[in-house]
This record gives sequence, structure tokens and C-alpha cells, in this order.
Amino acid sequence: MPSKPGPAAPTGPTGRFAPSPTGDLHFGSLVAAVASFLEAKSRGGQWLVRIEDIDPPREVAGSAERILAALQAFGLRSDRPVVFQSQRTAAYRAARDRLLAEGKAFWCGCSRADLPASGVYPGTCRSGLPAGKSPRSVRLRVDDATVRFRDAIQGEISEHLPATVGDFVIWRADDLPAYQLAVVVDDAWQGVDECVRGHDLLASTARQIQVARALGLSVPRYAHHPVATTPDGRKLAKRLRSDPLERQARGATLRLALDLLGQRPPTGLTLAELWRWALSHWRLDRVPRRAAVEMPPAERGARVR
Ligand code: GLU
Repeated sequence: MPSKPGPAAPTGPTGRFAPSPTGDLHFGSLVAAVASFLEAKSRGGQWLVRIEDIDPPREVAGSAERILAALQAFGLRSDRPVVFQSQRTAAYRAARDRLLAEGKAFWCGCSRADLPASGVYPGTCRSGLPAGKSPRSVRLRVDDATVRFRDAIQGEISEHLPATVGDFVIWRADDLPAYQLAVVVDDAWQGVDECVRGHDLLASTARQIQVARALGLSVPRYAHHPVATTPDGRKLAKRLRSDPLERQARGATLRLALDLLGQRPPTGLTLAELWRWALSHWRLDRVPRRAAVEMPPAERGARVR
């Protein structure tokens, strides 16, 4: 007898939103949540939330819970249990050790003060620790890698890693996994095949592709949307202490996020109606191919309750 069919396996893409708990959810990060959610869900895919809590010095107590509650209040729910990177250190360490064993990464004894102002690693420890230096961090060898990829919003991107960063840190001197390693290990582990996120992270993408290739992992599709900035060009971020979203009218805030993303919902819709509209009308090709979109303070302020 044929077995009873279970729920249909998702056939669409798997996207994710991966906030660091360094403050409350703010408008800038809500845009990334909305864009990644709509790009995955409008094509019948899954959307996951991952809390990137691997940097205790930068963490703000309670912000992970507040971010998750704010997402939920907006109607944004992870399709699978939320992953906390702080629980995954063993996986990052295993990836690091494999890269070391295969000679694709090396221990570096340099401190920040040893590095040139350009930030490009001069290769000091790549052939072994010079006398007098002890191991501090682990760097991935970039050799002569030029990484090319097609960003689904920003178009063709090419970065010659030896000129922009050189061998880069995948394990920090304070014995913590670097973001560039953890994000790649987890996207692969969770089956994430598309990363929709803010333009500020485009500068990390070539490094992440290089890490994925070194580990033999498949490379997701990337789409970097413009970030919201203040009129003086600063990113709307936690550091700017933008108003916590709880205090804003959620429908109006979602509309602003959709506006920034180049979508044009009709006026007069409630939050639930806006989501319904967005899920059936979302078009990635309408997202502006720009690094940033300015948000005049009056516009932001007018919508705060
Ligand atoms: N955790 C990173 C951040 O909050 C984002 C990671 C990503 O989307 O790749 O900036």
C-alpha cells in the first residue's frame, strides 16, 4: 500500500535573515528581513532566521529575544526552529581545522598593530610563523583569487582578493570564529541557497565565496539590496539608536520598507493586506540597483506612533 503522503516538500529556494544581536531590530535590518522573506516565500520557498551571536563583546543582552519578538509582531516567522550560532562553535572549529589540515589556511601571529594601514594582509605568516611570533588567528589563503559572481540585484561583481584584503581572518585572536567562516558553514548546513541582504555586506561576499569554495560547499545566489541611510549618508543602524520598531505603526513601516525596495503597494492597506499584496506582487527586478536609498527624517518621523 502506498504510504500516506506527508506535507509537500518545499520546492522553492531557501532564504534566510541572519541578524547579529547587537541591538534592537531597526528599520535598516527590517528591510533585509522583508526582502529575504519575500524573495523566498513568493517563489514557494522557505525562510529561516538565524541569530548570529558569535561575538559576545558586541552583543546587547536581551536583543536576540527582542529581535525575534519584533519579527513575529510583523508577521515574519522562521519556517524552521531558529538557529543560534553560539551553539555551533564545534562545526566552525571543525571547518577551521579542515582548512588548516589541507593547507588552505594558516596560523597567523600578527596583531592589528603589525598590519599596514591599507588593511591588506602582507603575507607575514603565510609560510610559517616567523621566530618570536605565537599563533593568534587563522587566515584563509587567497593566493591569486579573483572572485566573480552575478549579484541578482547589483549585477556582475568581481573582486581581486589579494588586492582588497589578502589572506583574511577566519578564526579570531580572541578564539572566536570569524563571521566570514560561520556564515558560510551555516548557510551550507541549513541548505540556504539564496542570501538576500543589505549592500553593506557586498564587501564580504567575495570572501565568503572563497571560504565556500575552499570547503567544497555550494555557493548561494546573492542579492544585495540598497541600505537605508540618513540624509548625511550614514547607514540607519542600531548604533544610530533608531527608534525600536515596536513603537512604530507596523503597516506604515512595512510600506516604507517596500517603497525602499522599489515595490509600489496601493495605499490604504492594513499590515495583513500589505503582506498579501507583497507576496503576490514582489519583483526582485524592481529593487533599485543602488548601494543606498536616503530616508528623509521627516518621512521616518511621521510614521512613528
Ligand atoms: N549577521 C550579519 C549582520 O547582522 C548579517 C549576516 C548576513 O546576512 O550574511 O550584519
